[in-house]
Amino acid sequence: MTKVFDHGGGVRSLRVPIPDNPLGHTLVYVVDTDRGPVLVDTGWDDPASWDALVAGLTDCGTSVAALHGVVITHHHPDHHGLSAQVREASGAWVAMHAADASIVRRTRETRPERWYTYMAEKLTAAGAPDAHLAPLRSSRRRALPGLSPALPDREIVPGELLDLPGRRLRAIWTPGHTPGHVCLHLEEDHPAGLPGRGRLFSGDHVLPGITPHIGLYEDPDDATVTDPLGDYLASLERVGRLAPAEVLPAHQHAFTDAPSRVRELLAHHEERLTGLLSLLASPLTPWQLAERMEWNRPWEEIPYGSRNIAVSEAEAHLRRLVKLGRAEAVPGSDPVTYAAV
Ligand SMILES: [Zn+2]
Ligand SMILES: [Zn+2]
Repeated sequence: MTKVFDHGGGVRSLRVPIPDNPLGHTLVYVVDTDRGPVLVDTGWDDPASWDALVAGLTDCGTSVAALHGVVITHHHPDHHGLSAQVREASGAWVAMHAADASIVRRTRETRPERWYTYMAEKLTAAGAPDAHLAPLRSSRRRALPGLSPALPDREIVPGELLDLPGRRLRAIWTPGHTPGHVCLHLEEDHPAGLPGRGRLFSGDHVLPGITPHIGLYEDPDDATVTDPLGDYLASLERVGRLAPAEVLPAHQHAFTDAPSRVRELLAHHEERLTGLLSLLASPLTPWQLAERMEWNRPWEEIPYGSRNIAVSEAEAHLRRLVKLGRAEAVPGSDPVTYAAV
């Protein structure tokens, strides 16, 4: 028996497991339309996850074959992983924001060697020690997971209604966690009459108990100096102003009072930036900053791949501080170090 939760008003959620991940599961939403159910996200590409999705749809009184479409909040594999299989079994369209669609296209086209070279260069520039770089330079490189995500058939255009017959679901562009992350605003009145404006499928943008990872937008083909944390904070304010009656996130559980959760998240990031400034009293490389930042466990216990993610997060914070004029690169340093202004 799967766990189907009925949110009322023709919206249900299914818990689709993410193997070997502390998050546990993705909440996949099933939205009834006049042309058949539409999914918001699909879940991780794994046989057990697929079985959970199929069983959950059966418990909802429908089936994969009956699906009309798939709306993807962002390209990450716990959201977009099963999209190809769903499309194959149903003929449903798959919609995604153009910025994340181009990441999907690049992921499918980039050869692993190119990706490893890019990562090695990036981490060298961030001041990573040789011991960390060695596996990226070795010839025995492992295949990368999730190399063939589904290319979407439709583009999610910010501000526009999606093609959900009989429903009003509007795309809200919320870049930050990924460059093409979207929240989906179901504009109809809340089914239980809760005060506020409709319901918001928030993906990973706003979650009730955890803060999403904000790192650099990794793209070997793009030399633009982006500011993902700045994007994220602006996207948070957008959701706060929208003031939905209820938020339906992709992990954990549904919650109300989005504006106060948004205020908490903004305060958390402000506190974190201030904390980093005190670390930057003496110049640090992004790697050294990551080593000194607070994580959910000591740096020594953080596994290899998670260290790369941590350094990316440290760099996103440095970008933000530099942009705000609160930190600066030290001229002539190599690898480049940053210091508080
Ligand atoms: Zn994500
Ligand atoms: Zn996620």
